[in-house]
Amino acid sequence: MNWDHLLAGEELAYRTTDPARAARLAPLPEGLAFDVGVETLYAHQREAWDAAARGEHLIVTTGTASGKTLSFNLPVLDALAREPKNRALYLYPTKALAQDQARALAALAVPRVRSAIYDGDTPQERRWQIRKWANAILTNPDMLHVGILPRHDLWADALHNLRYVVVDEAHVYRGVFGSHVANVLRRLRRLARVYGSDPQFLLASATIANPGELARSLLGVDATVIGGDAAPRAERTIALWNPPLLDAELGLRASTLGEASLLLSQLVQRKLRTICFAKSRKAVELIHRMTADRLDTETKRRLAPYRAGYTPQQRRDIEQRLVAGELLGVTATDALELGIDIGLLDCAISVGFPGTVASLRQQWGRAGRRGHGLAVLIASEDALDQYFMREPESLLGRRVEAAILDHTNPRVLDAHVAAAAFEAPIDDDDRPTLGDAALERAPHVPELQHTRRGWVWAGKDYPAARTALRSATTDAFTVVDASTGSVLGIVERERAYSTVHDGAVYLHLGEQWLVRELDLAARHAVVEPFGGDWYTQAKKETSTDVEKPLRVERRCGLELTFGRVSVTEQVVAYQQKHIRDQSTIATIPLDLPPTTFETEAVWYVPTAQQLAGLEAMPLLLSSLHAAEHSMIALLPLWAMCDRWDIGGLSTNVHPDTGAPTVFVYDGHPGGVGIAERGFDAFEGWVADTARLLGGCPCERGCPSCVQSPKCGNLNEFLDKTGASTLLTRMSKSA
Ligand SMILES: [Zn+2]
Ligand SMILES: [Zn+2]
Repeated sequence: MNWDHLLAGEELAYRTTDPARAARLAPLPEGLAFDVGVETLYAHQREAWDAAARGEHLIVTTGTASGKTLSFNLPVLDALAREPKNRALYLYPTKALAQDQARALAALAVPRVRSAIYDGDTPQERRWQIRKWANAILTNPDMLHVGILPRHDLWADALHNLRYVVVDEAHVYRGVFGSHVANVLRRLRRLARVYGSDPQFLLASATIANPGELARSLLGVDATVIGGDAAPRAERTIALWNPPLLDAELGLRASTLGEASLLLSQLVQRKLRTICFAKSRKAVELIHRMTADRLDTETKRRLAPYRAGYTPQQRRDIEQRLVAGELLGVTATDALELGIDIGLLDCAISVGFPGTVASLRQQWGRAGRRGHGLAVLIASEDALDQYFMREPESLLGRRVEAAILDHTNPRVLDAHVAAAAFEAPIDDDDRPTLGDAALERAPHVPELQHTRRGWVWAGKDYPAARTALRSATTDAFTVVDASTGSVLGIVERERAYSTVHDGAVYLHLGEQWLVRELDLAARHAVVEPFGGDWYTQAKKETSTDVEKPLRVERRCGLELTFGRVSVTEQVVAYQQKHIRDQSTIATIPLDLPPTTFETEAVWYVPTAQQLAGLEAMPLLLSSLHAAEHSMIALLPLWAMCDRWDIGGLSTNVHPDTGAPTVFVYDGHPGGVGIAERGFDAFEGWVADTARLLGGCPCERGCPSCVQSPKCGNLNEFLDKTGASTLLTRMSKSA
């Protein structure tokens, strides 16, 4: 290929080729009620059809561009075309995705299918029409939760005739959001039953380790997994690219953005259509500018950035120019990866690991749609990125990453028990849909009263409106754009003090914002756009109290516990640091109250033998602290989450264990299952971390191994060698 000689030198950490694959085809089902527009199906589409025909719930987990959409549309549209009274509900995690799908459905023009979007933007006067008239209704879980289920009387006909519920991008429903959505879907199943229907759920997800488990957690019932991807694939070269090491002692590498612009410019010069994904708008702009600087005026014009602020028209314009070959290089933030609908690309570059293997695969899936493709990951200095450079098999071979949620987290569940009681009295008959945990929580939810009809809502307001699905608590701060007054997002109190304190640089969908004021009484943070080249890191003091050990096992030669803890944090200062080299500009004190929350944690007490030679202070503390950081960095490899979803604490003596202890806790109040996944996967997790430390070329610890961008101690007291010794000993005792 004409990129071959680009892929050379010490930067190339790994190279492999995914072979081309022929399609496995299957015949269309007999007697379809509409014209699909294709002659044959891929085998997985036919399997989905057959499973749906048997009345099963299902989850399709085939790759990007494998015709997943047709897998669920085929049974749904057939049912609607056959019997127009049938209704289907399509759930999308974002409004933009619902709009894309609405356009696609309209383009299919299936007779008797009347699709419509019903979301927060739908005008009041249109709403009753849609409820009455549409048989394919596209919405999001938030609207279902707050707008549809509590007003089920208005939806009686739709619920009575509800035949299918499509849940697309199901892997997005993990963590806190997923735990909420799992409860919303249970409420939907219950109300459907009240209205005499029993809809089938058709889920589609990116490739994850546990599709069946995810479907079961989301629905409360089993679903058939359709996983054998039968779509054809062109050959694809995969390259892992590590910016050259500039200072081995400090672990300092050349700029990731610079490397990206170099590769992008060289690919574009070869007339290869390339998309380059980066994590922030700032990075996207820098890569775009640096790439343009490397090109002549003519080629320069064939580059474009692709941004969140673009209107659908501007987006389509860029997509069409790419398809026409007029544009050659596009840079985009990875916040947009879900919404981009462009085929026919040659190369995809991911600048920094996007956080999950599922999103990396989605980004790479754009490459090679018209022949042999090239997919590249350029590593950042982050520990997980560097680990992948040295252990490519862990990235490309194993399928360990699991989408985790916990619908029984009381902080989440109670809100839905209240909402369900508002919708209809709760009694024993609801166990199969709402679940046993909901019945157990009912007596503990204030404002529920037990009557002869069951548990009923005795409050005056509308309980669903109290709860936002994207946050673990109602005690949250809104983040407001000072110039427009619009709400950018919400942040739980527990995280607000460390992420949107006065003077913090806050990142939202790849955009940087500077916090002008955090108002504790009004519970909002006022922010303004920020173009500076520094970021902020909070310094905080943390303590944990063991509330209740739930599982105690002898693992890796030591006592490992999973259980409930309460975490108290106080943010005491923050540092401003240069993006370029992480050097500190200033440390500014903050005066914020402590916060305490209960959550789940996994903790371990190393044995005296495992700590032999490390007992002296401060070596002991520094070794434990470094072990904690590097373990937190690698947990996302096992549980699909962000490093920012996890917290940790290490201490030379903990009051509850009376010994040196390392805690890793779920950063969301109540916990969403991340810590327990760490408990279950402990041996593999420890082994990965020992390998990470053993392989890092730095001398005394660096951002690619033991340093953490979110350390509350600003990365003081870290001993890489001590941590490596401890974790290697633990791994050997496994
Ligand atoms: Zn290092
Ligand atoms: Zn730390």
